[in-house]
Amino acid sequence: MKNITVIGSGTMGNGIAHTFAQFGFNVSLVDVNESALNRAIQTITNNLDRQLKKGFIDEQGKQATLKHINTYTDLKIAAANADLVIEAATENSEIKLGLFKQLSEICSQKAILASNTSSISITKIASVTKNPGNVIGMHFMNPVPVMKLVEVIRGYSTTDEVTNTIMELSKKLDKVPVKVNDYPGFVANRILMPMINEAIYTLHEGVAGVYEIDTVMKLGMAHPMGPLQLADFIGLDVCLAILNVLHSGFGNPKYAPCPLLVNMVTAGQLGLKSGSGFYKYTAGNKDLIIVDKFSK
Ligand code: NAD
Repeated sequence: MKNITVIGSGTMGNGIAHTFAQFGFNVSLVDVNESALNRAIQTITNNLDRQLKKGFIDEQGKQATLKHINTYTDLKIAAANADLVIEAATENSEIKLGLFKQLSEICSQKAILASNTSSISITKIASVTKNPGNVIGMHFMNPVPVMKLVEVIRGYSTTDEVTNTIMELSKKLDKVPVKVNDYPGFVANRILMPMINEAIYTLHEGVAGVYEIDTVMKLGMAHPMGPLQLADFIGLDVCLAILNVLHSGFGNPKYAPCPLLVNMVTAGQLGLKSGSGFYKYTAGNKDLIIVDKFSK
């Protein structure tokens, strides 16, 4: 396995491209949006510089990683020679089904088609392809070059051979793969998102402010960051999309997204990527500034 195509160059796509390129794979990074591709290369360069400063890589390693990444806006060209495609486009079932239908036409029969989806059914995605046995979930965590976990999701038809290949490949990227079955939210988001949603409800109902809620969870539960800061880093639109999948998938009102989250996404407050969510962010700076209207 040598040629990897990554679809979507946003928060996750750039991290996935960075990680594969760092381990010597040829990466074709594709996005419908040319400026997203430019931003992705800039982000990867900044992150490589950070790794360089910390002594994790040398200048040669940085240059070799960048050389292994080519960018495209045309999926047909980007995916034609792929051994593995990892789709990390917007969390929207229509977009993903459309992409996998196209990939099924473009890629060789042998190619493995993976999705980095946080919650959309792998079985449903596989159902629009000609070879559903080759479709699998490869759920990386943010930030991809740093986080060890890959949640490997077996769809209903995913073969043992494809599952084993992806488990072994994840280990080659110095990750720890964990195999799970295909149910709404899989494991990671089935547990994480209700906690984030409850933190937003706690804020919405005026029980406490942003600082207080995040501090309780950080210092009281030894979480590395509070749930509201984490939601900002994930993207509030992504959180909302996942909660909607859990809500409709299980039909249980306990997963209903908090109205405050819905309002913030509607207003374009998406967290770090839009510069404002539960906290405010200055360009390229993850330092937190508490948004006044939420703090006590
Ligand atoms: P994002 O909004 O940062 O980036 C999505 C990118 O996909 C954008 O650049 C957009 O232009 C591109 N795109 C949309 N339609 C496309 C198409 N048809 N072809 C090519 N590119 C297209 O989103 P993200 O946070 O990187 O999430 C991507 C995927 O990863 C989602 O499925 C999400 O659920 C999942 N995920 C996100 C996180 C997280 O922390 N943000 C963690 C794990 C998994």
